[in-house]
Amino acid sequence: MKKYLLTRQELSQLLDRLAKETNLYAPVKDKTGATWGKVKNTAEVHLEEVNTREPAKGFIFPRCEVLLRFDQKGNALEPEPPEEQIVFGIRPCDARAIAFLEKFYTIEGKTDPYVKARREKTTFIGLACNRTAPTCFCLALGGSPHDATGMDLLLTDLGDLFLAEPLTAKGEKLIAGYPEAKNEHLTAGAKLRKKAEAEIPLRIDTAKLQEVLPKAFASKIWETLALNCVNCGACTFLCPTCHCFDVTDETVRGSTVRCRVWDSCQFTLYSRHASGHNPRLDPRARYRNRVMDKFYYTVEQAGVISCVGCGRCIIACPANIDIRTTVERLLKEFPEE
Ligand code: SF4
Ligand code: SF4
Repeated sequence: MKKYLLTRQELSQLLDRLAKETNLYAPVKDKTGATWGKVKNTAEVHLEEVNTREPAKGFIFPRCEVLLRFDQKGNALEPEPPEEQIVFGIRPCDARAIAFLEKFYTIEGKTDPYVKARREKTTFIGLACNRTAPTCFCLALGGSPHDATGMDLLLTDLGDLFLAEPLTAKGEKLIAGYPEAKNEHLTAGAKLRKKAEAEIPLRIDTAKLQEVLPKAFASKIWETLALNCVNCGACTFLCPTCHCFDVTDETVRGSTVRCRVWDSCQFTLYSRHASGHNPRLDPRARYRNRVMDKFYYTVEQAGVISCVGCGRCIIACPANIDIRTTVERLLKEFPEE
């Protein structure tokens, strides 16, 4: 795929134009660092943090997706269709998570219509990570701080210039008219990639993990691994790939909406059956489920590990539980036979 060049000023002009023409979202400053916000101009964009506090999954899988709307007489009202949106500054781990969600929500070639409609209306302009945080481990799971999976356009900050790699027709359209990058720019981009990747020393034997996890399922090791977990659910809500939901009906001023809302496998009610039986009443079973889901169940269901190594669950956990330590302990305690 060809790569192109934009000056810093040209990128600002492009973003300012997009903010006028459509809904432009980007990382913006908040008291915890950066979060996603709708911006009116480039001055509001905040790229100083390695990543945003919240993941980008809400752009295609929002906290509350209105599935149906009806009035008190039972007349169905059409839910509002999603609007066009451009998401600037998505990082490679989060864009991989978007690709995972699309894959996970596709059954027999048919993607969930709500996820599909939102993805079609969304353009992701990604930014490669030239620096990483101590909690980043994308490389250990097949990603990279410069990975382009899931993006429409990937930008790499070379200093005064940005290297731009279009991945889709939407990306091609955005970059049309800019000059092609020369070898020296490609070399500079490759050097930055190598430097960022060198900052992530952790490697996980993911093939071995597929053998270890079923063996570890009934082990007492979970009592230690999940000892401090308070099942608050922060790890799941902030995870860019967690995809569980509940469906609720709400009536507000005479209009009723049926919403698909994020749920968490860390909550007791999540797994309670209609009979009252709950197979995951034990908090340790709920922690185990999260780990099994990330590294084993989604491999069975969608063919991919669904942890992208963003590190958000490590940062957010009030009990200091580190999913990397869990995986390393499992691999150590259950050596290959
Ligand atoms: S954030 Fe930590 S304490 Fe909360 S549910 Fe996740 S692992 Fe448990
Ligand atoms: S499990 Fe943790 S590190 Fe992995 S993608 Fe989810 S939040 Fe990120």
